[in-house]
Amino acid sequence: MKNKDFLCPKCKGNLRVEEYIILSAKDKDKDRGLILLSPELGNYEVHHHPDFDISGGNLVDFYCPLCHKRITSKQHKNLAWLIMRDQEGQEYDILFSQIRGEQCTFKVLGKHTESFGKDAHQYLQFLHRV
Ligand SMILES: [Zn+2]
Repeated sequence: MKNKDFLCPKCKGNLRVEEYIILSAKDKDKDRGLILLSPELGNYEVHHHPDFDISGGNLVDFYCPLCHKRITSKQHKNLAWLIMRDQEGQEYDILFSQIRGEQCTFKVLGKHTESFGKDAHQYLQFLHRV
């Protein structure tokens, strides 16, 4: 994972700093906070300030901390969208659940999809509709 970049799909800004992807988030009560995610697909460790209380089961909207645009995917409102660029410059769409506690990540290149997480099956049917 060392050399993979994670980019905002809207402004193409770099959202990865060392071992974290940094996103801005807003919960259903409109509270805002920063969220640090692992760049390792299928690792659902999340870091945030203890005052930003995002309890399980709720939808959290993710935003790019650089351009402040929402990064919800076109495929499903529960899925966020990032671009992953590997060492060869190949770009993949990364989709992952914005519901706290749900483990669901997709790595998409054209019609080829790799899925991660125990809840991924719930979203597979939505992936190639767009
Ligand atoms: Zn952006």
